[in-house]
Amino acid sequence: MSYQVLARKWRPRDFGALVGQEHVVRALRHALEQNRLHHAYLFTGTRGVGKTTLARILAKCLNCETGVTATPCNRCSACTQIDAGRFPDYVELDAASNRGVDEMTQLLERSVYAPTAGRFKVYVIDEVHQLSGHAFNAMLKTLEEPPEHLKFILATTDPQKIPVTVLSRCLQFNLKQMPREAIRAHLEGLLKEEKIPFESEALSLIGRAAAGSMRDALSLLDQAIAHGGGEISAAGVGEMLGAIDQGFLLRLLESVAAADAAAAVAVASDMQARSLSFDTALADLASLLLKLALAQSAPEALEADLPERARVLDLARSLDPETVQLCYQIALQGREDLPLAPDEHGGFVMTILRMLAFRPETAGREPAPAAKRPPAAKGDASWPQLVQSLPVTGAARELARNVELKRREGSLFELVVPKSKAFLADRAHQDKLKAALADHLGGPVTVKVTVGEVSGASAAAIEAGERDASRAAAAQAVQKDGFVNDLVNLLDGKVVDSSIRQEGKP
Ligand SMILES: [Zn+2]
Repeated sequence: MSYQVLARKWRPRDFGALVGQEHVVRALRHALEQNRLHHAYLFTGTRGVGKTTLARILAKCLNCETGVTATPCNRCSACTQIDAGRFPDYVELDAASNRGVDEMTQLLERSVYAPTAGRFKVYVIDEVHQLSGHAFNAMLKTLEEPPEHLKFILATTDPQKIPVTVLSRCLQFNLKQMPREAIRAHLEGLLKEEKIPFESEALSLIGRAAAGSMRDALSLLDQAIAHGGGEISAAGVGEMLGAIDQGFLLRLLESVAAADAAAAVAVASDMQARSLSFDTALADLASLLLKLALAQSAPEALEADLPERARVLDLARSLDPETVQLCYQIALQGREDLPLAPDEHGGFVMTILRMLAFRPETAGREPAPAAKRPPAAKGDASWPQLVQSLPVTGAARELARNVELKRREGSLFELVVPKSKAFLADRAHQDKLKAALADHLGGPVTVKVTVGEVSGASAAAIEAGERDASRAAAAQAVQKDGFVNDLVNLLDGKVVDSSIRQEGKP
């Protein structure tokens, strides 16, 4: 058996064989059976989902010698000639290579003549969005008043680029990307039919690499058969695709989770020793991180037959969602930067080190010593301490936090608010604060708030001071960290102090 024949041999020849586009097939079948035919169809969808295959099937439905039908016979001369690309009334034009108004004008000029062999002339214009503006205009005239015997089938990966005037004259069908499982199942059925031995895992690899395109899946299958000398093993297909063993990537992220740079670098060296593609590795790493994010937020969306599922779930537990998001970003960015790196391996290592260095929390490092709280005022509890236990919220709480206690005599509180926060001293807020104080102290109180000079002893000012002090201490600790220093030197970067956070502090 000739290997290359497979993709062509298994190209769907009628609606029944078309995988994964049931919604489109149903509508077209219905229209054909009712003989309600439109004069222009637009098939949209990403490459390889079957747009031109569908166009060919539709052309046979329209021209089959058995009559207009949803089930072309595939035997008559019209059917066989359309399949072979030799039917005189069936024209496929690739707009990507024939963009000009001349080709379009010629085609349209010929369209006025009656079909020579079939019932309808069928013009398929692939990648129609690539036509020039003039060519679109030429086509529009015919679309507005098409001859009875003419059918247009337009196909595009980019419907946004088609003028609205053209769009509005077409019956539009959006072809879906083929789900991985549908591709896998289709390949499995086909191989069984062909009696070619295979490993199921190998078909999953092909399904993933095909990225929604059945055409790609079939041609990869052809390659895999040639590559494996007539049988299809997971190892062989993995090698052929340059696929990255999931194990490497899991080990990498486990090292990131453990903040173990040495282990992560060792994994990258192992990968280099096997000459794996680091570009593919970063893409796969991003998709693994996506799985972790799913496991964390929507575990039911995780595929049940995911390889190494338990390890993925373990990782999802040991990395916090913020880190997963950040690592995902870094993986994407790293992939973009890869062509600029001195070499792929270096670029990959750098990306992994970045994941380790810029985790949102400085997990696994010594926490910086927090600045000491200033000693509480002797005697009465200090105002800032009192504020902490006051049952008050919102703007009234902000008022309490930003005032200083000037004087307290029994149940009289004289408070000073700085000019910059005078807006907080609204009567309503004062009343709430007064009520909260009364509630807390168990008796009526009097509150007097004036705007004036403050000394930095309000609860808010003290907290801000503490935050600055602890941030400075944390910054110092990070600057002293040898690993971060090496990284800063390597990246020619600097640590942004405001990005340093201690656990549990904003
Ligand atoms: Zn036929």
